[in-house]
Amino acid sequence: MFGTIMYAPGDVRYEELPEPTILKPTDAIIKLSATCVCGSDLWPYRGANEITAPMHMGHEYCGVVVDVGSEVKTVKPGQFVVGSFVLSDNTCPHCAHGFHSSCEQREFMTGAQAQFARVPLADGTLVATDEHPADDLIPSLLAVSDALGTGWYAADAARVQAGSTVVVVGDGAVGLMGVLAAKQMGAGRIIAMSRHKSRQDLALEYGATDIVAERGEDGIAKIKQMTNRVGADSVLECVGTQQSMNQALQVARPGSMIGYVGVPHGVTFDGQNLFFTQVGMLGGPAPVRRFLPHLMDLVLTRKINPGKVFDLQIPLADVAEGYKAMDERRAIKTLLRV
Ligand SMILES: [Zn+2]
Repeated sequence: MFGTIMYAPGDVRYEELPEPTILKPTDAIIKLSATCVCGSDLWPYRGANEITAPMHMGHEYCGVVVDVGSEVKTVKPGQFVVGSFVLSDNTCPHCAHGFHSSCEQREFMTGAQAQFARVPLADGTLVATDEHPADDLIPSLLAVSDALGTGWYAADAARVQAGSTVVVVGDGAVGLMGVLAAKQMGAGRIIAMSRHKSRQDLALEYGATDIVAERGEDGIAKIKQMTNRVGADSVLECVGTQQSMNQALQVARPGSMIGYVGVPHGVTFDGQNLFFTQVGMLGGPAPVRRFLPHLMDLVLTRKINPGKVFDLQIPLADVAEGYKAMDERRAIKTLLRV
């Protein structure tokens, strides 16, 4: 089969690889229906994360089960499944509390930008649909695996309530999914911070009520002015830089919550500043498995269309171009057809 290996920053190759096999009795093997490039794949691509060995890329996936290990009980060959980018057992205390992304057996999915992939901890990670979904639903089901699951977690962690005022920092795929999530949770006002016309348009389509194009101090001042100098009830931080985190902290009203899901790179906090800002923060890798059944149901009943976030759809063989397009911000998110 063919799959994707990153050898060095900027060096992504589609090449022939051994087909994955069952290594543990809790594994499943899936044939990918579609996969995609994640914003987090750009960190090593841009040299922000070190690459010490060739990396099997891809952690967002949906597809059809072709084989399962002897202990797998909840999914079987022939079923269509969606899984989280974090592998979990769904039985440990952290999973029981809904924090599957801190599972005692946690592993991170790899190797999904390929024709076939091995999914460890299949019972605790995968959710099957009753029947094979229509082709046009595949992009949206794929989005659930990470981008939507993560945007949803940001909104959940920021405790978005009916009628509340929400600020979304970041207009990448996850930020746009955060807008969708806030809308579904009934937010009254959703302010999306974005400087790019195509992303602003999609944010508005997903439910943003206001767009703030300014960044830094100007962006903070604008939001303060829009909220009568109070600030937002919930802030979704979907970038992970010092600037985006500062922006989130300064537009959050005292007593509010920040849901932060951009993997922090070089972000530091001043203890006293944090103390007097008086906001709550909950973030980390999204426990997508907690939300999978609900989000898959919203997609299958066509209540939401997160798949629209894929504004570039190309064959898996062209994966290198998929990375390049996202790196150069020509694409929000690349779907790879398998
Ligand atoms: Zn667990």
